[in-house]
Amino acid sequence: MKPRIVVVGSSDTDMVERVPHLPAAGETVLGRKSVVAAGGKGANQAVAAVRLGSEVTLVARLGRDMFGQVALQGYKAEGINVDYIAWDDEAASGVALIMVDEAGENAIAVATGANGRLSPDGVAPAESAIAEADVLLLQMEIPLESVRLAAQMARRHGVGVILNPAPAGPLPDDLLALVDILTPNETEAARLAGVPLASPDQAREVARLLLSCGPAAVVITLGAQGALVAKGDQVTQVSSFAVTAVDTTAAGDAFNGALAVAWAQGTDLTEAVRYASAAGALSVTKLGAQPSLPTAEGVEQFLSVARLSRSRETG
Ligand code: ADP
Repeated sequence: MKPRIVVVGSSDTDMVERVPHLPAAGETVLGRKSVVAAGGKGANQAVAAVRLGSEVTLVARLGRDMFGQVALQGYKAEGINVDYIAWDDEAASGVALIMVDEAGENAIAVATGANGRLSPDGVAPAESAIAEADVLLLQMEIPLESVRLAAQMARRHGVGVILNPAPAGPLPDDLLALVDILTPNETEAARLAGVPLASPDQAREVARLLLSCGPAAVVITLGAQGALVAKGDQVTQVSSFAVTAVDTTAAGDAFNGALAVAWAQGTDLTEAVRYASAAGALSVTKLGAQPSLPTAEGVEQFLSVARLSRSRETG
């Protein structure tokens, strides 16, 4: 049976521009290439999970505008269950302006719009879907009370919770206690812990510190440096896959969607992180958020090529 995943989170329209360098305040930079595509961490992670072969329900809120209509059609075309996507009559759909420089680094400004109005009342109707899910996948681009309610419902029904604490912000202890896997990136982990991750030892220390705040496991993603997995008294480093980075937007979303799929299938956490790292690596090889999210076949193929080259190196 396919794993069942519910995502409660944001949906945006991403306007991505490729620029020679990220502009300073007041500077105009002439970009060459642009892509307009659906994005938002919630929707991206939902699309990542559905492309990797799971049944996905997205709980979200859209403005009654062209961007919202196009996003909804896109989610339907991906095969996502959109029964719990609601329309907002007042706020516009979320919009993200993303600039990507030649090195693949980005700067992002998001107008949250309808996402900021996805209230607990908008989440409550999805309780039956959450109850039937294998994993609930959450991020922080919707109101905190809504994230908390979704996590409480998952706990009530014995459903595993992955919280990607992005963007970085304060996380109350009662929410952390409801989380099975907390997945900050380097910046988010540093903000949550209140200390920088300047060295590998510090990163391990931060992973242990975050683990002591309540989640059952912590996975810190470190971009091209891979990921750290902290569980019990173990902290394990999982290497990344070497790729040529074109655009790192949505690497974390590909990673989290893939982690949810692998974990929902009962895969051991470190192995699930390895699978998620392959999805993350593949996503950075293409421009844009959702256009860059890989399929199950794409990840399998990538992993078998990686296995082959590793066995050549070692054999
Ligand atoms: P975010 O997009 O949230 O900042 P990261 O940049 O940490 O997240 O990326 C998430 C995961 O994607 C990493 O742990 C890694 O496995 C993979 N990844 C990201 N960037 C690269 C890269 N340049 N090369 C290979 N893998 C990458």
